[in-house]
Amino acid sequence: MTALDTADIRRQFPALGRKIYGHELIYFDNTATTQTPAAVIDAIRDGYLDSKANVHRGVHTLSQEATARQEATRALVARYIGAADSEEVIFTRGTTESINLVASSYGQLMNEGDEIVLTVMEHHSDIVPWQLLAERRGLKIRVVPMDDRGVLDLDAYRRLLNDRTRLVAVTHVSNVLGTVNPVAEMIADAHRAGAVVLVDGAQAIAHLRVDVRALDADFYAFSSHKMYGPCGIGVLYGRRELLEKMPPYQGGGEMIKTVSFDGTVFADLPFRFEAGTPDFVGIAALAKAVEWLEATGVERIAAHEEKLLEYVTERMAEIEGMRIFGTAPGKGSIISFLIGNAHSYDTGLLLDKLGIAVRTGHHCAQPLMERLGVSGTVRASMAAYNTFEEADAFIAALRRIAPMLA
Ligand code: PLP
Repeated sequence: MTALDTADIRRQFPALGRKIYGHELIYFDNTATTQTPAAVIDAIRDGYLDSKANVHRGVHTLSQEATARQEATRALVARYIGAADSEEVIFTRGTTESINLVASSYGQLMNEGDEIVLTVMEHHSDIVPWQLLAERRGLKIRVVPMDDRGVLDLDAYRRLLNDRTRLVAVTHVSNVLGTVNPVAEMIADAHRAGAVVLVDGAQAIAHLRVDVRALDADFYAFSSHKMYGPCGIGVLYGRRELLEKMPPYQGGGEMIKTVSFDGTVFADLPFRFEAGTPDFVGIAALAKAVEWLEATGVERIAAHEEKLLEYVTERMAEIEGMRIFGTAPGKGSIISFLIGNAHSYDTGLLLDKLGIAVRTGHHCAQPLMERLGVSGTVRASMAAYNTFEEADAFIAALRRIAPMLA
């Protein structure tokens, strides 16, 4: 496997040329959203410039072209994640909507006393939809704990599974700790207990090879904007036999076969779950992001990020007062930290003055913050275009600000 040519990659990302307070931008907030390559930006521009037409509605050429682009993207995404067929790929607005879709729709198949298993490291978007559902239908939520490294306690997980467990929702990669959870193993356990599993793949999709069939996932959710694609587009993969028995999520155009005031016959998959006009321009541009990932190679990206992670972590550990949260073996390129007792915002603001973009706060994971005993952390997260020079500049910046904060 050849190493990534980061100089070549960086030339494809116009935003990386920005200067912040006179410094070259060092973008280490990739967990929140990744930057966008020119190929994706061009596809968005072209989609509005000379070929905008609504999908699935017109016989005219532009509409036919738009429909073809959207359905080609669906097929490409299906292939990229190893889905059995493209009808198992539903376009949504993001991971959050994908999870809400499952909670609202599959949730209607659950009854009072049924149980849902979550983990302590879930993002709020993989907690709150289940809480809303639990309230509506009288369900019980149970939570898998973790150890101090950020590794889930699988024995405790197995003890939580029982004949009332209907669904397990687990993040593939923690957006705070970087932990890569053993989802294939957890899915096998859940299936033995008769439960289905939703995997929140928001932090996995651009950083490791995802194969929904190899994982045997029932649902897999992710967002385009975290995989070098446009904002406002998400994907829900669902296993066909589950999607077929799920009631519609939202009503409207596109999701029907026939409508009369006596009743409505719903469309087949995947359109049954895609009410209204989608962001067809964004969906077509997502294809460019998937092509970019395929051409670059997600395994090469993963290897590059792993080296960067190791390099940065080793040097951070030498800094006086540094506290790193999340040390699970094989973790992804996300480093949460605090310097002494300094507030994460203060660290984030000082880094910003040096041109370094990191995330601060609770990262939409307040239950996890509670488990860690902090109100928030600083989070540096790396992607394909980040370099060792940036890593050195980041370490130098931390060394410079640490004495002011510790
Ligand atoms: N799940 C995880 C693990 C995340 O990191 C995020 C976003 O940060 C989400 C879900 C929500 O993604 P979105 O806001 O794109 O719907």
